[in-house]
Amino acid sequence: MAEKKQFRAIKGTRDILPPDSALWNWFERTARDTFGSYNFGEIRLPVFEETELFARSIGADTDVVGKEMYTFEDYDAPELVELRAAVVTWHESAAEGGTVVYASFAGLLNRFLIACRAAFDRGSIPRTPGNDSILKNLLGEREIFLTSIQSVRLVENDRAVNHLKERVREIEFGDSLSLRPEATASVCRAYIEHGMHTRPGNVKLYYMGPMFRRERPQKGRYRQFYQIGAEVLGQSDAPAIDAELIEMLLNFFRRAGLTSTTLYVNSIGDKNCRPQYVELLREELRKVKDKLGADSQRRIETNPLRVLDSKLPEEQPVIEKLPRIADHLCAECRDHFAKLKDELNLRGIRYEENWRLVRGLDYYTRTTFEVTAAGLGSQNAVCGGGRYDGLVELLGGPPTKGIGFAIGSDRAILSIQESQAAAADAPGAAKRHLPALAVFIAWMGERAYPAAVSIARKLRESGVSVELPAEEMKFKKSLGLADKLGARYALIIGEDEVASHTYTLKRLADANQQKLSEGDLLEYLESERRGSR
Ligand code: AMP
Repeated sequence: MAEKKQFRAIKGTRDILPPDSALWNWFERTARDTFGSYNFGEIRLPVFEETELFARSIGADTDVVGKEMYTFEDYDAPELVELRAAVVTWHESAAEGGTVVYASFAGLLNRFLIACRAAFDRGSIPRTPGNDSILKNLLGEREIFLTSIQSVRLVENDRAVNHLKERVREIEFGDSLSLRPEATASVCRAYIEHGMHTRPGNVKLYYMGPMFRRERPQKGRYRQFYQIGAEVLGQSDAPAIDAELIEMLLNFFRRAGLTSTTLYVNSIGDKNCRPQYVELLREELRKVKDKLGADSQRRIETNPLRVLDSKLPEEQPVIEKLPRIADHLCAECRDHFAKLKDELNLRGIRYEENWRLVRGLDYYTRTTFEVTAAGLGSQNAVCGGGRYDGLVELLGGPPTKGIGFAIGSDRAILSIQESQAAAADAPGAAKRHLPALAVFIAWMGERAYPAAVSIARKLRESGVSVELPAEEMKFKKSLGLADKLGARYALIIGEDEVASHTYTLKRLADANQQKLSEGDLLEYLESERRGSR
């Protein structure tokens, strides 16, 4: 018998199962509560957008956009896809050889082009100038190919076929879309699309959900990972906005039991001072190019700030000697950074300055920050954030200031799970999220069953979590299962109990038992659920 394929989650993705999912829910609920108390509202965003949105905002030269996005063509022309596949996989078979075969390719190409032109005219493939011109040119090139088949050598025919196939591949069947690698670009897109700049005051939004990057998976680094982020968009870039956002973030981490964290802050200047600094950095880096690895060497030209991110041990002494942005900020940026630090001090927030904190994405200006947590090894950043004052404008919106952060939930939760301190320092934090099965109903006997169903329904209606076995079990087996499932109580319903209208409630931790009427039972368990017992 053929062996059945075992399906597995795609590399870099994973399933989050109970009871871990309860911790996730609790973590997310805590974020909602905390952000709500700062008057942030939730924005729910699509998980895919036009590729161009990410290329323009994050930067085409970044690893995230250049190498890590899951991009696909969103087309509405399935018949064309089949035809295109036939064209690009066509190859002349040696047995047939000769002009007849090449003519058959020309015929296939012709069918494809006619279908494409029709699709173009009715708009089911993008009516872009690029598509228009490729289609026109291809028709002409096909004519030439057809007339020259007999007069040229076979190898030239092969070359022509390959060229035509290349051109066919260039036709766009649909928009290029990408799974979002992050959500700030989407938030800005939505802010513009819905004219949110007309709303009163600053627009304060948070989001949570999966992000996708084709990174090399390791502990704390996945290809589908989860972020919780918050953004403030509006007309003001007051440092108090930055500081309050950071306060909210740390407040959330504290409530979530993520205690061993360090906050790093930096300012990377703005469009007035950063370009000069980047140029200076580039010049200095060119002088020490030989001492750098291949990645950093490349970045000298493409994105010199990224060299500062390097963790390669042999590059550290070189990087330490490079000029620091703090010494090259313009007066406004210097003032903004000084005020940010005052505002953090006012709130009793401890921080460390880290001049190398430049963050990977192009859109940041002035404030950047990052939080690291214990127990995570090399992937220890649990949150990154910063100011992005020009981004909304860059995406075609009105002049707008913005700042935000994104928390990596996978890592934050890993740190909570691994940190013993979390359980000790935040009483209840580790337990509160645990799913609490309150009652296991151990029923036996035909007459006990309807009573069990009825009591289960009433308990569940009052919010008590109940497990009701679907099939009859011996009491001993029932109690064993109740124990394994971690139930707090077993409710014993046998025929005698039904006859006397009293039920035995057994506390599994200490085997304490009490007999209760149905009314008393419901009242007892409900008040226990409310925490009053
Ligand atoms: P970034 O948008 O790269 O600044 O990421 C913000 C936060 O998201 C980081 O500090 C990480 O906690 C988390 N993060 C980024 N990439 C990944 C990934 N591939 N897997 C898990 N978490 C990630």
